Amino acid sequence: MTTLESPAQAERPAAQTGTGAPAIALENLSHDYGTRRALDGLSFTVQPGEIFGLLGPNGSGKTTLFRILSTLMMPSGGSARIAGFDVTTEPTRARQSSGIVFQARSLDLKLTVAENLMHQGHLYGLSGALLKQRSQQVLARVGLSDRAGDLVETLSGGQQRRVELAKGLIHSPALLLLDEPSTGLDPGARRDLWQYLRILRDEQGVSVLVTTHLMEEAEHCDRLAILNSGKLVALGAPAELKAQIGGDVVQLETVSPWAAAQLAQKVQQRFSVTTAVVGATVRLEREHGHRFLTDVVEAFPGEIEGVSVARPSLEDVFIQRTGHRFWTDANPDAAGTPTPRKEKH
Ligand code: ADP
Repeated sequence: MTTLESPAQAERPAAQTGTGAPAIALENLSHDYGTRRALDGLSFTVQPGEIFGLLGPNGSGKTTLFRILSTLMMPSGGSARIAGFDVTTEPTRARQSSGIVFQARSLDLKLTVAENLMHQGHLYGLSGALLKQRSQQVLARVGLSDRAGDLVETLSGGQQRRVELAKGLIHSPALLLLDEPSTGLDPGARRDLWQYLRILRDEQGVSVLVTTHLMEEAEHCDRLAILNSGKLVALGAPAELKAQIGGDVVQLETVSPWAAAQLAQKVQQRFSVTTAVVGATVRLEREHGHRFLTDVVEAFPGEIEGVSVARPSLEDVFIQRTGHRFWTDANPDAAGTPTPRKEKH
C-alpha cells in the first residue's frame, strides 16, 4: 500500500469545520413502499470523525436508508440531516456535504483514473487548476498517485474500489456514504480498504457510514446501528454491545424445535437461567459456560445432541434483541464470524 499524504498537506473537509452539527442525524425516520414499512421510526446520530456501521440482514432497510441519505429518495416520515442539512428540504447542500460510493461500479473502464475523477469533479462544479489539484490530492489519499494516467480497466478490483473512494472524496465532503463496500473484494483488498477508511477518519476527520450484512465487517466500525425489519434493535460500539451479554453464550442442540422447547423449560427450572429457543437449539447466557455445560449434559442425558460455548458475538447481540438468527436460508453467508467451538456428545 502506498503511503498517503500527511495531515499537514491535506486540507480539512469544509463541512467539518462548520456548525458542529452531527455528520448524520435521524429523527423518527420512516419509509413505506405502499403498505410495506421498510423503515420504522429510526432515530440516531453519527458524530463527526467516526466510522459508523449500519448492520442488518437482507430486507432490514439498509438500502432504503442509504438511498434516503443519498437524496435519491424522499422518506415518508421523520427527518434525516447530513451535516445539519435536511435531505428533503436542502438536498443539494446535503449532497455537497457527502461523498457517495454505491455498491455497483460507477467507473468508466475505458477512461484513465484521472479522467474519471475529472468527470466527477465537473459534476460537483469543480474545474481547472483547482480540480486538477483536488484530483491529485485524493489520488494521493488513496495511494494511487502513480496510476493516474492508467486506464481503469488495468487496475485490480481493490484498486478500482479505491478510485471509487477517490471519486467520492473529490469535493472534500465531511461524510462518506459507502454501500456494502467489501462486496467483491478479496480479503487483502478488504483489509486495505479498511485501512484507508481509518486513515481518512484519523487524518482528515472524515465521517464514514458503511452499510453491511457482514458481522466481520461491522466489527471494524467505531459504532453500529443494528437494524431488523426497519427498526433499530441495537446501537453502540461492537465491544460495548457484546459486553452487554452476561458471560458466555451456551448453545444446546437437540433433534427438533419441539425437543428444544421441552429442554429449555427443564433447564430453566433446574438451573434458574433464562433460555431462548432458536430452531432446534436452546440458547442461554452464563458465566463460566464450560462448567455449566458439564452440569447440564449430566442432568439431561440423551436429550442433547451437541453443545457449544463461545464468547458473545454480534450475532448473539442480534439474537438477544430479536429472538431469531441473523442469517436465514436466503442469507446464509451473513454471519462472517467464526463458528463457535463445538463438542459432540
Ligand atoms: P436491505 O438493504 O437491508 O436488504 P431494503 O431497504 O432493500 O433492505 O428493503 C427493506 C424492505 O423494503 C424489504 O422488506 C423490501 O422487500 C422492501 N422494499 C425494498 N425496496 C422496495 C420497493 N422498491 N418496493 C417495495 N418494497 C421494497
